[in-house]
Amino acid sequence: MTLLKGLLINLLVILVLVLFYNMVVVNQQKRISPRFQKSVLAFFSSILIILSLLLAIAIEENFVYDLRFIPFLLGSLYGGKKVTLWLGALLITARIPIGGDGIWLTALLVICFSLIFFCLSSRFEEKPIKWRLFFTTFLAFLYSILALLIPSFYYGFHTIETFFIYSLVLTAATFFVTYLTELLRTTCILQQKTIKNEKMEIVSHLAASISHEVRNPLTSIIGFLQLILEQRDVPDKCKIYASLALDEASRTAVIIDDYLTFANPHPEKLHALEIDKEILQCRDLISPLALKHSVDMKIVFFHTDKIKGEPHKFRQALLNICKNSIEAMPTGGTLTIVTATKYNETFIHITDTGQGMSPAHLARLGEPYFSLKEQKGTGLGMMVVFRIVEGMGGNIKVNSEEQIGTSITLSFPSFA
Ligand code: ADP
Ligand code: MG
Repeated sequence: MTLLKGLLINLLVILVLVLFYNMVVVNQQKRISPRFQKSVLAFFSSILIILSLLLAIAIEENFVYDLRFIPFLLGSLYGGKKVTLWLGALLITARIPIGGDGIWLTALLVICFSLIFFCLSSRFEEKPIKWRLFFTTFLAFLYSILALLIPSFYYGFHTIETFFIYSLVLTAATFFVTYLTELLRTTCILQQKTIKNEKMEIVSHLAASISHEVRNPLTSIIGFLQLILEQRDVPDKCKIYASLALDEASRTAVIIDDYLTFANPHPEKLHALEIDKEILQCRDLISPLALKHSVDMKIVFFHTDKIKGEPHKFRQALLNICKNSIEAMPTGGTLTIVTATKYNETFIHITDTGQGMSPAHLARLGEPYFSLKEQKGTGLGMMVVFRIVEGMGGNIKVNSEEQIGTSITLSFPSFA
């Protein structure tokens, strides 16, 4: 009974701190850099490990039992390799003052499980929630069995009751704590998505209602300005004015095209797109801008499949991304485009060596009117990219580090 009571108090402390961590970090996720988030996760897990050890119950002389495995497990799997190393070292060090042969057992288990976490942590967050729940629960069950079975062989202490209580509480507690963590993360992600979608909805209505009305007269204006420029008897001064007006009108046309694509993102005619052809066309269109910024373009094709979409829109998405990348490298750099096919998915990685974005700016990427380019930017480019890719059933992942660069990965279901 003492063991059960002790473990339940330990569980309560863990639940309270998980909720607190959620309040501090998960809700502020978009404003905190991933590196700092990991440090905070390591900090909370460390506190929980120490508190668990303080609340530990001695079953047999020199052997204490508690739920320290939960912060070790979750901290390592969500935090990555460095956090695993730190928590593993902390677990062993913090166990030393309690003394006894239990230290060797702790060290053995920590090393074995650290190796498992090391192999898994990089892929853990990509797995479905059900898999994560099942896996963490299974690991906790395995740990609970080993933590009692190994010493009981050598020291002959075991009662079925202890086995049963420890194993059941640790396994069930791990399941519930993981479930709670996932629930809180999902709620936060959904909340942010809803806010973004509401904004998009407003822009979409606006775009649909005014863009068409403006596009047609604008096409005539551009046409007439071009005619003026072609006339021989027009004074040079007028031609300069007409050329300036044409530049501005063309820029407006680009903005309206972005709005129109946004208002109607779903491809009307789905084609099997040959990505290499589209990317090469995009390169031809963008190369004058790249040349102006002394940007070197590298393109490598490794993909084997085609994807489904509308060429014009797909090209527009690529152009918008590449334009941003080049604009982020005002003093030159490298823009790399690499394609790949893996498990029926086709990937396009676009990487630049530009000025990058802070986590706060990265979180706002794709929001209507978000631009850091003052007069020059419209804040529509990435919004349209997100919309087009979504319309093609694809996904976008963006990584960016200030002064290092940005890498954007588009993934689409392959089309045989
Ligand atoms: P715009 O280019 O008109 O400003 P976008 O939606 O295309 O609007 O981009 C929004 C903002 O995101 C840009 O102003 C820029 O600050 C930032 N951004 C986008 N792509 C990159 C990139 N590759 N590197 C650095 N910053 C970027
Ligand atoms: Mg842009």
